[in-house]
Amino acid sequence: MNFTKFPRRSYLQGPTPIESMPSLSEALGGDVNLYIKRDDLLPGSGGGNKTRKLEFCIADALEKGADAIITCGAVQSNHARLTAAWSAKEGLDCHLILEERVKGSYKTDASGNNFLFELLDVKSIAVVAGGSDMMAEMSKKADALAAAGKKPYIIPGGASNAIGAMGYAVCAEETMGQLNEMRLAIDHIIVPSGSAGTHAGMAVGMAGVNGGIPISGVNVSRPKDVQEEIVYKLSQELAEKLGVKSGIAREDIVCFDQYVGPGYSLPTESMVEAVKLFARTEAVLLDPVYSGKAAAGLIDLVRKGHFPAGSNVLFLHTGGSPALYAYMDTFRQG
Ligand SMILES: *Cc1c(COP(=O)(O)O)cnc(C)c1O
Repeated sequence: MNFTKFPRRSYLQGPTPIESMPSLSEALGGDVNLYIKRDDLLPGSGGGNKTRKLEFCIADALEKGADAIITCGAVQSNHARLTAAWSAKEGLDCHLILEERVKGSYKTDASGNNFLFELLDVKSIAVVAGGSDMMAEMSKKADALAAAGKKPYIIPGGASNAIGAMGYAVCAEETMGQLNEMRLAIDHIIVPSGSAGTHAGMAVGMAGVNGGIPISGVNVSRPKDVQEEIVYKLSQELAEKLGVKSGIAREDIVCFDQYVGPGYSLPTESMVEAVKLFARTEAVLLDPVYSGKAAAGLIDLVRKGHFPAGSNVLFLHTGGSPALYAYMDTFRQG
């Protein structure tokens, strides 16, 4: 794949590690060999997947002459944190619109990512009710900034448009290169599936390098059919942009929705177990909203015998651990 045709900043420091997880594999019965791709170790304050996407989105903003970035997310959004971080680094103002998806969940003095928004000097935070039209809210903010003489640029939630998702096509190519180097044959890749850019980018990148490794997403909010359609649509758009000739087949986009629990960002028992198990066996810190629920899915699929004995399964760790500090009570209760 040729990424050089697109504006791109250099936020990566080379490939993120792929590590084996022998203790976790053993704790789950030892039939499946688990590996982890450490995108939690990506640069950007606190790490996580949005750095790959922002390489392209912020480059596009700079190319268009922007001096202010507007984006949106939930009240503990990692995407908002990383957008604030890279904006700070680039000398851009950052404005956040936060969606209170769980009523009463926004607290100005909350820990976790919320505290980091402050530290990273975001210029404004507006909190809107769950279900608000976030693009309309961001456009309103953009109009106000433009009227004040600024040049605003809107990055959609999760940076999950075709520009941002390209960062995960890069990741798929990087992963395949590492696996070839390691002589490691992976049978299946598991990724969290949220605003869909990660899942779509991985699917398109895998097709683009003809890697042939099946990728499954674990949902964090939506039902299976709804999420699969969102990922599929974004994949088609990205495949077109990158000129991936094979395209993406609808049946290649697979999501599991059994691990969402009562809803987005709401803790589940299996998430708490997954976060504790990864910490105790591999000293890997997951997060309560995304990687914790995706790992709960991975663990359940291993226990259910979804993967044939002897399989090598790679888990994409998308980061998010700063959010743990906003959920300490959840883990201390369990
Ligand atoms: C945003 C996010 C995800 C989900 O990625 P999408 O591209 O939005 O699907 C997963 N994990 C973490 C930690 C995130 O912040």
